[in-house]
Amino acid sequence: MSSELMDRILSSSNLPSMPVVAIKVLELAQQPDVAINDIADVIQKDPALTAKLLQTANSPLFGLSKKIGSLQQATVILGLRTVKVMALSFSLVDSLQQTHDSEFDYQTYWRRSLTTAALSKLMAQHCGNLRTDECFVGGLLSDIGMLAAFQCVGDVYTPVVRQFAASPQPIQDIEADVLGLTHAEITGRLLQKWSLPDMLCQAVSAHHGAGLESLDQRTRLLASVMYAASCLSELFCADVPRGQLDEVKAHCLELIPITPEALEQTLDELHGNVNEMATLFNIEIGESVSYEALRSQAVVQLANISLSAEMDRAEATNRADQAQLELKKMSKKAATDGLTQIANRQAFDEKLEKTLTTAEEDGGSVGLIIMDIDHFKHLNDTYGHQAGDEALRRVGQCLKSLCTDTVTAARYGGEEFAIILADTTARTLQLMAEGIRKRIEKIQFDYDEHHIQFTASFGAAHVDLKLETTTPKEVIERADECLYEAKHNGRNCVEITF
Ligand code: GH3
Ligand code: MG
Ligand code: MG
Repeated sequence: MSSELMDRILSSSNLPSMPVVAIKVLELAQQPDVAINDIADVIQKDPALTAKLLQTANSPLFGLSKKIGSLQQATVILGLRTVKVMALSFSLVDSLQQTHDSEFDYQTYWRRSLTTAALSKLMAQHCGNLRTDECFVGGLLSDIGMLAAFQCVGDVYTPVVRQFAASPQPIQDIEADVLGLTHAEITGRLLQKWSLPDMLCQAVSAHHGAGLESLDQRTRLLASVMYAASCLSELFCADVPRGQLDEVKAHCLELIPITPEALEQTLDELHGNVNEMATLFNIEIGESVSYEALRSQAVVQLANISLSAEMDRAEATNRADQAQLELKKMSKKAATDGLTQIANRQAFDEKLEKTLTTAEEDGGSVGLIIMDIDHFKHLNDTYGHQAGDEALRRVGQCLKSLCTDTVTAARYGGEEFAIILADTTARTLQLMAEGIRKRIEKIQFDYDEHHIQFTASFGAAHVDLKLETTTPKEVIERADECLYEAKHNGRNCVEITF
């Protein structure tokens, strides 16, 4: 009887379906390198969902100082996981509440689902090793099997609903008696059909305790949290006489690794939101407020509570750091010469300008060396362009090894290089140029059975900004003139001006 009934439910055309937008968001979110804009694009196709997500993102519980105006922004700031859970919860609740029927108490159903969701999430925070958003979704959907049964096999489920309304017996017991099947099992199969994670499907199947023992440790913990949340939720939603509070609390302490203090805190937190909850759970709400409005308000509130603003803020910071890092990498790449891996011409120009400005402000002095490989055209012509490239690479390595906070080496162009020395004396500049000249002379490598070695000529200019003002152009010209002299004087030498 029970498997036949399950088949009838699962093959019914009335079976609640996963909203298309939720399916797409979940699918996308599973891809490891999904672009945030792709997710936002999918959600945006549903204007009501978009509005709710933005409303939630801008609610005080996320504590963001800046208003979030777009979904892309919301996804970046709140994180993919949060947006995924919100999209799933909102779209499901929205699509499920479209059905109205007098026999099924939708109001109680939703009040209980939302309370279970909030409690699952709050308790999960104290149980470790569980993802709170997973617990929230689990709690929210755990009873969906009731809706499915009512909508798909109303003929047999209506009597269950009637009996439940008339007796203090838990609904799962009535279901088991009448149908040989509980809503927990139906929920599990339905979520499976929706391709939700296995762990979630297994956990919801056991959310009234049956089958807990056969689950693996983490799934059992998730199921136990939902079980405890359901028991408490029944209390809050007055399905059970309130006198049983202590009994239910003791049961929860047995079920999950939560301390009595943490359990009290959880219940306090639920109570702490009592005014909000009063609105959420229809206390003192006159008939003037539509149930639909109340329900969407409740989802907004609970999504807020559930989606640990704290955690999300941390994630947002993390993402901002990542973006900063990415930006740093990119700008470094843009300032680096591809062949020699030292600063390129543009970075050189900026650095020289900055170094001169600083020196002018501080009354310091600056040195500039321009070096040019000797007879490089000949090297290229004799051994080939590739050999020339290798020579340039070696020069790059050599110069890179000399760079410090005050020494910047750059490829000035072709086979010309420049070295900026901030805060230096003419003597140091001279020694530095001489030192580089000797190092270049020593570079040697074999290429295509040719032994390659070369030299370079150096022009250096020293400027004391205490005594004179100057421009980058002027300093370069002075160093260039010296380089010309060095070439004229037989190459492989240093000429300096100060
Ligand atoms: P001088 O001693 O007077 O400086 O003679 P030179 O041959 O070094 O000077 P010239 O300016 O006549 O030639 C420079 C050569 O550098 C010509 C050009 O093909 C070569 N060159 C410029 N950039 C690159 C490069 O990226 N790779 C290689 N392999 N060669 C380059
Ligand atoms: Mg040249
Ligand atoms: Mg040259």
